[in-house]
Amino acid sequence: MRHLIAGNWKMNGLKSSLGEVTRLKELLAANTANADVLICPPFTLISDLAKEANGTTIMCGAQDCHTAVSGAHTGDVSAEMLKEAGAMFIIVGHSERRADHGETTALVKQKAEAAQDAALTPIICVGETREERELGNAAAVVSAQLSGSLPEDTNYVVAYEPVWAIGTGLVPSLDDIREIHALVREKTTPDTRLLYGGSVKPANAAEILAIENVNGALVGGASLKADDFYGIIQAV
Ligand code: PEP
Repeated sequence: MRHLIAGNWKMNGLKSSLGEVTRLKELLAANTANADVLICPPFTLISDLAKEANGTTIMCGAQDCHTAVSGAHTGDVSAEMLKEAGAMFIIVGHSERRADHGETTALVKQKAEAAQDAALTPIICVGETREERELGNAAAVVSAQLSGSLPEDTNYVVAYEPVWAIGTGLVPSLDDIREIHALVREKTTPDTRLLYGGSVKPANAAEILAIENVNGALVGGASLKADDFYGIIQAV
């Protein structure tokens, strides 16, 4: 299965940040990537980033969507709108949205279905907190999140992102990643792309991306600089 390296810019980036996409284009033009490449910028940059990436192998995505197609939902954005702006994927259920906006597993499933209804691919995030891991509950937590948030239509990507590894520089052991990814594989299909996310950097990407059932990475901080992101893409 071809790996997917997906960047999540979170709430970072102004138009000037599109220079990083220009730089990534140059790097990818010089050396063909062995992976699919996706960048999910904030809503405000989707349209510009999609234009900047047009004609290249870089795909554009979004970080969230509403469950409805349209209506009285001030401040929200629908999957259909994101598609029109140029998104091909939508991250749903990121732990920061679960924490900051109280998103439940059931809501995450509805968002994933909304993305699919708009013919976009949801990237469904799951992962345990530090406390849950320390109590030995990581597998049970991830299992429950998957049961509650995977739609029937299997056109989705799953990202395993331990909450305690996001933006902290901490990474689970390779065995721990292997164990959770094996569990996720059992609950999905042989063709589902399973990403690992949490402090992936150029220095640790090769060993993580070589783990069985790891079919790519969801990258936060290291996706903001083209050279770092390219280093991860090259690690494939
Ligand atoms: C993320 O936000 O999905 C993420 C994995 O962040 P970071 O790579 O910075 O840990």
